[in-house]
Formats: sequence, C-alpha cells, structure tokens
Amino acid sequence: MKNTQNLSPIIYLVVPCYNEQEVIRISLEALHSKLSSLINAHHISKQSKIVFVNDGSKDKTLEILKENKNDKTIIINLSANCGHQNALIAGLEYSLDKCDLAISLDCDLQDDIDLVDSMIDKFKNGYEVIYGVRDDRSSDTFFKRFSAESFYDIMKVLGVNIIRNHADYRALSNRAIRSLLSFREANLFLRGIVPLLGYQSCKLYYKRNARVAGESKYPFFKMLSFALDGITSFSVQPLRILSIIGATISLASLIFGLWALITYFMGRTISGWTSVVVPMYFLGGLQLLGLGILGEYIGKIYKETKNRPRYFIDSIID
Ligand code: UDP
Ligand code: MG
Repeated sequence: MKNTQNLSPIIYLVVPCYNEQEVIRISLEALHSKLSSLINAHHISKQSKIVFVNDGSKDKTLEILKENKNDKTIIINLSANCGHQNALIAGLEYSLDKCDLAISLDCDLQDDIDLVDSMIDKFKNGYEVIYGVRDDRSSDTFFKRFSAESFYDIMKVLGVNIIRNHADYRALSNRAIRSLLSFREANLFLRGIVPLLGYQSCKLYYKRNARVAGESKYPFFKMLSFALDGITSFSVQPLRILSIIGATISLASLIFGLWALITYFMGRTISGWTSVVVPMYFLGGLQLLGLGILGEYIGKIYKETKNRPRYFIDSIID
C-alpha cells in the first residue's frame, strides 16, 4: 500500500537515457548507492526504485543497463528515440500510483544527486512540486550560458511563466504527476507546463556539474528547436507582435504614399530606384517573417490534431 507524505515515502528516480554508454554504468552505481543509503537511513521506503527510460539508444546503453541492473532498477525500453521530454513522460506514466514522489534527472550526473535528500525533506514538509535550480553555470560553455539566458529573457518578455535556470531536475508528488499527465499536448515542454499545475512548490538550488562522461545530446540546432518549441507552445505573443509590426508599417506606407502623391502634384516627380526597391525588400522580408511565424503555429496545430501517441514501450525489465 502506498504511503502519503509519511516518514518513509516511496521514491522513484526517473532517468531518461539516450546513447549514454560512456556514463550509464557510473550513473547507475551512483544512483543506486544514493537510493540504498536513503533506504538504510530509513528516510525512504524499501520499495523505492530507479526507473531508467532507454530512449531508443543506438549504442550499448541498454546492454550495459541490463548487465548492471539489480532489484532496485527498472528499465523501460522505448521502441524508438522519442526525445527527452517524451522519455520523461514515459517514466512518469510508469511511476504513477506506484510511488509517492518521482524525481526526474539526467543520467549524465550533471544534476547534483545529493539534492535528492533535500527534495525528500521538502516533500515530507508538504511540498508537491520541487524544482532543482542551478545557481552556478560555470560548467557550461559561454555559448550555452548566453543562449540559455537569452531564452529565459525572451520567455519572460513573452509572459511565459517558467522557472529560470530550472531544467528537468524536479520532484513531483503522485498527485502532481497525475495532473501533469492530463495535459495531452503533443508539443511537450514540461518546464512550461509544471508551473501551471499549482500545488505547493519550492525551489532548491544546486551547482550544475560538467558531464561525467559522454557528449551532450543537445547540439546547437536541437537546442534552438527546443527553445522555439518552448516559445511557440506557450505564447501567441509573436503572432501579436507580427500584427503590430504589420499595422505600423501599413500606417507608415500610407503616410509615405500621401507624401509621394503630394510631391507628384507639386510637380516634383520622384525618380528613384531606391524608394521602390527598399520598401520592396523590406516588405518582402517582413512577409516572409510573418509567414514563418504563422507556419510555426500552424505546424503545432497540425501536430496536435494528429493526436499521435508520444511513445511506444518495447519492453519493461524489472
Ligand atoms: N536524452 C533522451 N533522449 C534524447 C536526448 C537526450 O532521453 O533524444 C536524455 C539524455 O540521455 C540525458 C538527458 O536526456 O539523460 C539530457 O540530455 P543531455 O545531457 O544531452 O542535455 P544537456 O544537459 O546537454 O542539455
Ligand atoms: Mg546533460
């Protein structure tokens, strides 16, 4: 029987992994020893587990997981690579009603796993959504820091409520997981959805380490597309900005046209190539930009209307 916010809650650590053969063994050992020490100290229930979601890895991740697994590990093997957010959802969906608190974290050990202790304490104090927030990005490259900061700034300007410097290291109570899973959208951006859940929440700060081994699975373009997804999934502000720019420019061209007419009647005909070509380029560019932004949203509607499943499970090894 499940405990609720009692002294030894059942904790599930949900860890998505994609092509992580360099780090997976280290990560499994580290997480296992963390879980065991918490169990031995009677902080958490003996039924606590680590759920590795293998997101269609093409390397030896699954083999290594199978070889090194123990009674505390569960492997959910997805049928193909579905992306980090979907892999996380798969892990949370599996954990629903089996645990009191699910903590999601990356398998590269960039997130300080000692924060798990404090997350559990917070949960025992009644918090149901606990955000792990980085307060030190010194392990990131300048570019990653800069792009992340700009992303949070843009989101703020667009009025999207997301927690600055919080990625996907978070703890959710069973009730919060159920609420989260009721969001059926295909364009998943968990960082934007979780703050919408409500419930008692708090932030815990940690220093983000460098990857223990292996490479980031978020190269520049994937990161950019993730950021664009985040923006267009949560804000229609770009569309509005577009209309405002459009309206301003139409007004300006009206004045320009009036001026051209006046000069024409005054006998000073405007001969000039620039006055024709410049607005042409400008408006052409603007139109393309507008179409692009519209396309982003239409693409989203297209994806949502298809209502495709987010992932398929090939096997569960527990
Ligand atoms: N990941 C995943 N599916 C993907 C890409 C990444 O499950 O398609 C996992 C990856 O194994 C890691 C986590 O998501 O555990 C975060 O990825 P990564 O560390 O590469 O991102 P970064 O920390 O560089 O932003
Ligand atoms: Mg990482």
